[in-house]
Amino acid sequence: MNKTNNASYTSWITVPAGHDFPIQNLPYGIIKTAAKARVASRIGDNTIDMLALFELGYLSDIKGITRDIFDSPYLNDFIASEKEITRAIRQSMFDLFESSNSRLRENPIHRDKILIPIDKVEMLLPVKIGDYTDFYSSIEHATNVGMMFRDPENALFPNWKHLPVGYHGRSSSIVVSGTNIHRPKGQIKPNDAEKPVFSASRLLDFELEMAFITSKGNPLGEPIPIEKTEDYIFGMVLFNDLSARDIQKWEYVPLGPFLGKNFGSVISPWVVTMDALEPFRTNGPKQEPEVLPYLKSEGARNYDINLEVFLQPESKEPFKLCHSNFKYMYWNMNQQLAHQTVNGCNVNVGDMYASGTISGPTPDSYGSMLELSWQGTKTIIAPDGTERKFIADNDTVIIKGYAEKNDLRIGFGEAVTKILPAK
Ligand code: MN
Repeated sequence: MNKTNNASYTSWITVPAGHDFPIQNLPYGIIKTAAKARVASRIGDNTIDMLALFELGYLSDIKGITRDIFDSPYLNDFIASEKEITRAIRQSMFDLFESSNSRLRENPIHRDKILIPIDKVEMLLPVKIGDYTDFYSSIEHATNVGMMFRDPENALFPNWKHLPVGYHGRSSSIVVSGTNIHRPKGQIKPNDAEKPVFSASRLLDFELEMAFITSKGNPLGEPIPIEKTEDYIFGMVLFNDLSARDIQKWEYVPLGPFLGKNFGSVISPWVVTMDALEPFRTNGPKQEPEVLPYLKSEGARNYDINLEVFLQPESKEPFKLCHSNFKYMYWNMNQQLAHQTVNGCNVNVGDMYASGTISGPTPDSYGSMLELSWQGTKTIIAPDGTERKFIADNDTVIIKGYAEKNDLRIGFGEAVTKILPAK
C-alpha cells in the first residue's frame, strides 16, 4: 500500500460523501464526446481526459509513454504498459488532483480541457476483449445448483474442490452498462413436452459476477506460475452474465453452456485497478482437501467487495434482490489464472475472466434468480405487488459493487441492463 490508498487525502475536485470514485480510486475507462473516444479516469462526477492530460504536459515526468496509448477507443495499449508505468501514472494523477496541489486547480483553461462532467460523456466498452472465460468459483452457488439439479447429498461434482471449473465463453456479446438486451429465443424443452419447441426464453436470469482483465500475455506453452499471476491481473469490473435457463438446460449436455449464455453479458464501464483494491485484501475460505502445488497460493488473495443486485420494474423504483461479497469466492483469481495456463494455454492483453455467480451463505445473498426463486418454487414479490420467479420483459437489472473500510470507499459504479421483449 502507498499514499494513493490513504483515506486521509482529499481532492480539490468535489467528491460527495460515500461516492464510488474518490481520489483513491482513479479507475480507467473509455469516454466519448462529439470529438472521439479516448482513455479517461474519474474523480467524483468528473471524468479526467487522460489524452488531454498527456498533451498538456501533466504526465511528462513519466518515461516510456506515448500519446497513442491514450488516443484509443480501448484501454488495451494503455494497460499493456508495464505495471511500473501505469502505477507511476496513477501516482502522478493522485498528486495532481490532491487538495494541496494548485498546478491544475489554478489553471481554468487547462481544467476545462481535462475535466469533463460524467453526464457529458458516453462511456464505451473499456477493453477490446480477446478471449473470455467464465469460472464457477463460488462454492455456495455450485452447491445450490448441484442441490437443485443433481443430488443434495453430493451437490458438488468430485472435481470441484480440486480445480477451478470454467468454460470458454464468447467475447463478442460482452457489452457495456446501459446496453439493453432483447430476451433471446431458442430451443427449449418444457417439462411436460415430448419434443423441444422454438420459443422466447421463459426463464431469463442474471448472474451476479465480477471479472478481471489481464494486461500481459504469456507465450504459448509457458504456464504462468501462481506466484507470478498478480503481475498479469490489471483490474476488475462488475459482470452480469445473463442466462437463459431453459435454453441452457436443454442444450448443455455434454459440452456445457452455449446459446443460453452468449446473447449478452454486461460489464461496468470503469476498470478498478488492483492497486486501488490493495487495502481490501482478505483471506479466502479454507481449502479442504489441500490443492495441488500449482494451485497453492500464500497470503490474502481474496478481496472484500460488497455486491448488490437491484431489479427495476418498468417506470418503478428499483428494489434490492440480493447482496453478496466477492470474498466468498472459494477459488481466487491467482488460482484461476494459474489453472487457465497450466497446460500451456496462452492469454493476452485484454482477456476477461468472470468469477462465476457469487452467492453467499444466506438466501438473501444468492446471486441469481435461479437460486433466489429456488428453481421457480419460490416467488419474489416486488414493492409494486408484481411477482417474479425470473426476469420479466422491461425489467432493468442493476449490479453495484464497492469495497469499504476505515473511511475508504472504492466503488465500481454500476452494470445496468434493461431486458427488452423478444424480437
Ligand atoms: Mn456465469
